[in-house]
Amino acid sequence: MVLFISDLHLHPSRPAAAALFRGFLAGPARSADTLWILGDLFEYWAGDDDDDPFNAAVCAELRALADGGTRICFICGNRDFLIGRGFAETAQTTLAEEPQVVDLDGQATLLLHGDTLCTDDTAYQTFRATVRTADFRRDFLAKPLAERKAFIGDLRQRSESEKQVKPAAIMDTNAQAVAAAFRRHGVARMIHGHTHRQARHGLSVDGRACERWVLGDWRDDAGNYLECSRDGWAFRPWTGRR
Ligand code: MN
Repeated sequence: MVLFISDLHLHPSRPAAAALFRGFLAGPARSADTLWILGDLFEYWAGDDDDDPFNAAVCAELRALADGGTRICFICGNRDFLIGRGFAETAQTTLAEEPQVVDLDGQATLLLHGDTLCTDDTAYQTFRATVRTADFRRDFLAKPLAERKAFIGDLRQRSESEKQVKPAAIMDTNAQAVAAAFRRHGVARMIHGHTHRQARHGLSVDGRACERWVLGDWRDDAGNYLECSRDGWAFRPWTGRR
């Protein structure tokens, strides 16, 4: 069985969401062969050298799951794209390149965070192109931690206020970008998060039946995951705390 989650946006200011996640790792995740985290596990990630005890606790919980025999794979999101090898080692998690094609019960499936599909938000795509270069990453991570956190704090504030004025359609996936991704990777199924619009979409690309599974985000009182087993695929709610 393979489980998929994304968009937990874990942050010290939301202890209830962190408790839900703890319960998930100690509960359903333990019976999974593989847990895929498709990005935005954290509200932000300032660098692997951030010694915030909140991050350390989450990493330790992931590690405990891995020690129990569940493989954890991670595709970073737009919030936690600065996650690196230090995190991977501490959390016993495998960092996967995005996009990623995996075999799920014999069917090739495309995995991605989902922000690259939101091409109508041109301002975001321009920003993304800048911050996802090796040069930006190197230069930014070389700055003192406090400076990085201040910069991220500004960004988060700006993003919150922009979200209030950006039309909802701009923040969703673009149909042509979705079709292009199916074509480019030659798959008939994809899973992504980012838009917080949990759904299973059936669509036709060049006459071929395709499926797009969109993961939901986690709130303080409810999480969710996609369960993929030989018996089928299903979204499951999660409300168990620990
Ligand atoms: Mn996202």
